[in-house]
Amino acid sequence: MAQKLKLARRICDVQPSATLAVDAKAKGLQAQGKDIVGFGVGEPDFNTPEHIIEAGASSMKAGDTKYAARRGPELKKLICEKLKRENALEYKPENIIVSNGAKQSLYNLMQVLIEEGDEVIIPAPYWVSYLEQVRLAGGTPVIIETDEATAFKITPQQLEKVITPKSKLFMHNSPSNPTGSVYTPDEIKAIGAVIEKAGILAISDEIYEHLIYGKIAPFSLAAVSPALRQQVITVNGCSKTYAMTGWRIGWAAGPDEIMKAVAKFQSHATSDPAAFCQAGAAEAYASLKTSEQAVAQMREQFDIRRKHMHARLNRLNGVTCLEPLGAFYCFPNVSGVFGRSFNGVMVKSPMDFCSVALEQAGVALVPGEAFGSSKHIRLSYATSKELIDKGIDRLEKMLNS
Ligand code: PMP
Repeated sequence: MAQKLKLARRICDVQPSATLAVDAKAKGLQAQGKDIVGFGVGEPDFNTPEHIIEAGASSMKAGDTKYAARRGPELKKLICEKLKRENALEYKPENIIVSNGAKQSLYNLMQVLIEEGDEVIIPAPYWVSYLEQVRLAGGTPVIIETDEATAFKITPQQLEKVITPKSKLFMHNSPSNPTGSVYTPDEIKAIGAVIEKAGILAISDEIYEHLIYGKIAPFSLAAVSPALRQQVITVNGCSKTYAMTGWRIGWAAGPDEIMKAVAKFQSHATSDPAAFCQAGAAEAYASLKTSEQAVAQMREQFDIRRKHMHARLNRLNGVTCLEPLGAFYCFPNVSGVFGRSFNGVMVKSPMDFCSVALEQAGVALVPGEAFGSSKHIRLSYATSKELIDKGIDRLEKMLNS
């Protein structure tokens, strides 16, 4: 007799990704021939810069098709140079672990740091995977709510208040996905002081570091003080900066003991990322001038779209949107639409709003519930200005109906 399938509890407790669910629903409608404008996915619509593609392709042709990446040690050295140059952080190559995307860097860290019952402090709205990665490691997420009043940023007092003897780790993400908020260096120093005093660990997810549009300079949490450098692991990668989402190259930099544990964990989980992808990443960091030019061009385009989408969203009936200062998302508040009906369908939540927008207006959005918000939706502006206009025209029509 076949045994009844019983999945491990660890996966049963995890929520499926709402961003992927929206994407699947939108793709289903597209497959039926419906014209859908997608603001869901969080990836640059630009292709990877040519010099990086060339480096990846020639590395593959030169035989980088084995486990070991010839440019692996060089990549770690280049990441050390980048951290010193841009982040005032000095690390040795042994302190860097390159993984299959920053997502894996974060997952590795949760697995080696978190035990059953450990509390992980996460400011909301948060990137959807933080919460589930903490749960997969047996930890307990402790959420700090934020809203427009503080531009979705926590205060040091809020952090102090939630720290308990069980607190293990604090998650910091600036610029933020989904809110687009950017902490100032002074704000980061004030939060760093609380972390240092409490003696807890922190992960600083700096994946959108190069996508800041205002006057705020990027600042690494680990750079606040020498003591904090022993408590903070910096996570970054190539996906957003160099439009390399599909290459799956992310990395973490942190204290000796933690990074040794991460190396051990990754050696059994996945081994290192593809050798030719590491070669592409090495080129991105090595050809500094060419890469910086490519990043500046992309940032300029994102900035034009950001201003345009933000202005148009604020003119929509029942919608207000704080100006996002980083990453490539707008995070408007749609609670002004709650209680209205569209073709007999009442909207009472971001999830309802997104369902109506997808089914009645053909626009794919991500509901705030996925990020711990009951009032907002997320739109990515990593798409063309024409598509931004087409999608927002549709929302405008729906909201004026
Ligand atoms: N952190 C944040 C805040 C993100 O938005 C993303 C991608 N959506 C990642 C990490 C992971 O990026 P990747 O795995 O592509 O490097």
